[in-house]
Amino acid sequence: MAGEPQADCLFCKIVSGDVPATVVRETETVVAFRDINPQAPTHILVIPRVHHPDAASLAAAEPVIAADLLREAGEIAAAEKIDGSGYRIVFNTGSGAGQTVFHAHAHLLGGRGLQWPPG
Ligand code: IMP
Repeated sequence: MAGEPQADCLFCKIVSGDVPATVVRETETVVAFRDINPQAPTHILVIPRVHHPDAASLAAAEPVIAADLLREAGEIAAAEKIDGSGYRIVFNTGSGAGQTVFHAHAHLLGGRGLQWPPG
């Protein structure tokens, strides 16, 4: 059922604590942890506790949680002190765009200059 934990989902296992992660923030609805392969000095993944395969399906099913996720990303950016120099929130959606984990997640990237277009 939509939103239920998936046995084969890595990020569901991080939410449950079955897979360890460097967690920087947890709320009732979201968990944030450091990316295992950081692409910037600050690279944090912000994920909903509920399982939805991508950001659009999360927003369609759980708009309040999608808003929570964005608000928390902004608050983490301030806590990490990357808000002054600028940061990026990225939702890769679909394998053609680089999505490899099909549990909705925001990449929060900052702490270095960020080029545009992103490639
Ligand atoms: P995607 O490619 O947009 O789906 O992002 C998935 C991200 O998860 C990648 O940036 C990976 O480096 C990251 N990742 C994969 N496994 C782990 C893990 O066990 N802990 C933290 N980050 C992970």
